[in-house]
Amino acid sequence: MEELKIARRKSGDNMGRIYGKDGNLMKCRICLKPWWEKEEISRMDVTFSFDGLERYKEDELCRMQLSAHMVPGCDALDFQARDELGDVNVEVSCSEPYPYRYKHFFLKRDLQGKVCVRYTVKPRPLLPADRCAPYLDFRCEEGGATSGGSSILAIFGEIEGELSLSWDMSCMPAGSRGICAFGEGDFTMEGSLNRLRECYFAMGLVKSVTQGDFGIYWLTEPAFDIRAIAEYTRDLFARMQEFFHDKESNYRIFVRKDPYTHSGGSAMERSYMFGWNDTEPVSVESKQSILAHEMVHNWPHLCDEPFGITSWYSEGAAEYYSVVLPLRMGLIPVQTALEEIQKMTDDYYTNPTRHMENLEAARICWQDRRAQKLPYGRGVFFLANTDLKIRQATEGRRSVDDVVLSLLGQAGTGKVLGNESFLETVQEISGLDLTDDLETMRTGGHFAPLSGSFDGRFLVTEKEAQETETGNTVTSYQWSIQS
Ligand SMILES: [Zn+2]
Repeated sequence: MEELKIARRKSGDNMGRIYGKDGNLMKCRICLKPWWEKEEISRMDVTFSFDGLERYKEDELCRMQLSAHMVPGCDALDFQARDELGDVNVEVSCSEPYPYRYKHFFLKRDLQGKVCVRYTVKPRPLLPADRCAPYLDFRCEEGGATSGGSSILAIFGEIEGELSLSWDMSCMPAGSRGICAFGEGDFTMEGSLNRLRECYFAMGLVKSVTQGDFGIYWLTEPAFDIRAIAEYTRDLFARMQEFFHDKESNYRIFVRKDPYTHSGGSAMERSYMFGWNDTEPVSVESKQSILAHEMVHNWPHLCDEPFGITSWYSEGAAEYYSVVLPLRMGLIPVQTALEEIQKMTDDYYTNPTRHMENLEAARICWQDRRAQKLPYGRGVFFLANTDLKIRQATEGRRSVDDVVLSLLGQAGTGKVLGNESFLETVQEISGLDLTDDLETMRTGGHFAPLSGSFDGRFLVTEKEAQETETGNTVTSYQWSIQS
């Protein structure tokens, strides 16, 4: 089971913000209309209607994500834009800022009044050479389709207001449902349009286990006990939500059956998708750590631009809290936590790419999957060490939890946060200056995990190990339970 990481864009996009008049919220309505032909979804019409959109000749109206991380998105076919003066002509161009590929639509005149944009997207064709990759694609499965919002919804920049999502199921089989992380069927929410792009969608003859705004959704009936997984994740979510001071109730897990021999999982906004296939067995135990890891991704983030500059933090925090939170909550025994920490240690310290700098690793991570794992190992041990250092500096009064929660609070105010914010927050909380430690971690310098980290439950000693692939003798570490 592998995580298929998606870099989430947390910083602003300078395409211009639209403001409501007289304090009224700007309204944006989105309608999704999937079409059922020859026993599958053949296409989906997407319509955006805006109250008004202050954009001028030569401005970008919107863009489609044609691919991300080498995963195909959707082209906007039969693209049409209209406003109160009639049809709006656009000029099209493409760009490729790594790891994305976009098609841009530029206005050939100013917009006036209400604006409507329509286009059609098609599910990706699956080819024999395809392999498991981040779950962003709009993909058919028995009875329907699932997708990351980023593949089907155009980017209109930073638009905030009253968003209404509706589904037209008139061309779908009776009983079809439409779900996204923020709600099932038609709903209205206030917030940023980008949040819908950054969450998962499912449509068609979708099955589910739900409780309030928590749910788990699938199309193909799985060969494993999905209800047990639903129960475990629901408990985990409730506890994590409390820990991260999260008041929003939505969280939805989407399950997809892969045509591959290998599957993974990816996290998006308020949602997570995991895959399964006919060759790899699945059990609650086998999914426990990855489900916890993916769920943590809902919260700690720093702005990851350029791509890979803060992934040590998001992946490190996901690894760290996927062990310490279930352990504190009594959801896993200490032996399981020990095994998880040992596995992280073995993976990182024997990884032949471990001396790569963070951005360099990010640049090659989809060609060299060994480099893709680096942010996990260096992030988790850096955070675990930071935790111990803060506890020692504050006589146990403060911990890395305070740093993570403070950063979450700052992010909630709309501040764009990076590595500097992390260092500043550590200093405010503990007086410690971790600039040198961060520099060592960032550049792939060797640092040892510390005894007494991970909530003081474990000890660690140095050991020799064999580097993966080369067999060279390298320094690694052996953990044990503190009695
Ligand atoms: Zn992750």
